[in-house]
Amino acid sequence: MHRIEAISREIMTNGFRCRQCGACCRGDEQTSRVIVSPPEIDRIIKATGLERNGIVVPYPEFIESDKGGRFTFEWCLRNEGGKCIFLAEDGQCSIYSVRPWICRTYPFALDGDTITISECPGIGEEITPEEADALATCLVKRQEAEEEEENAVLKIFSSHTIPMGKTVVFDSRGMWSIHG
Ligand code: SF4
Repeated sequence: MHRIEAISREIMTNGFRCRQCGACCRGDEQTSRVIVSPPEIDRIIKATGLERNGIVVPYPEFIESDKGGRFTFEWCLRNEGGKCIFLAEDGQCSIYSVRPWICRTYPFALDGDTITISECPGIGEEITPEEADALATCLVKRQEAEEEEENAVLKIFSSHTIPMGKTVVFDSRGMWSIHG
């Protein structure tokens, strides 16, 4: 069976319909981490006109380097008042057309060939075969994008030295020093 078809069938078996409750967009920075890659950040900048620093913060789990610096590997969308900054007052996503993969595919994710499912009140609801196919296709594209990002980050990481005492983020575009 084709991979997307197998994933689609599993989604159909579980059932899913977004209830537009916005629950997956709420939570503090510990419970709601919407990870975004550089290409996704670019799309959001283009759509909103916001500056990068107004959109993302470093992934909040840092690793200490042996020279007194610390580093992390990802960016997360900013979270204010217990919700993603792009969750509008009406409960809708204000950057819907450029929302990240993680939002497009929630509550599903792929771990290798295994589907993982996060908590969501929409699980168990009816989904059409076409919707399940579209979601399965998104999941595979998300996984490919994540693998591409991960490989590029590892190359960047192995070719840079973390400056003494600095906090940095590694992504596929380089090493970003964090100030303040
Ligand atoms: S980007 Fe949109 S869908 Fe994703 S967490 Fe923020 S408000 Fe929700």
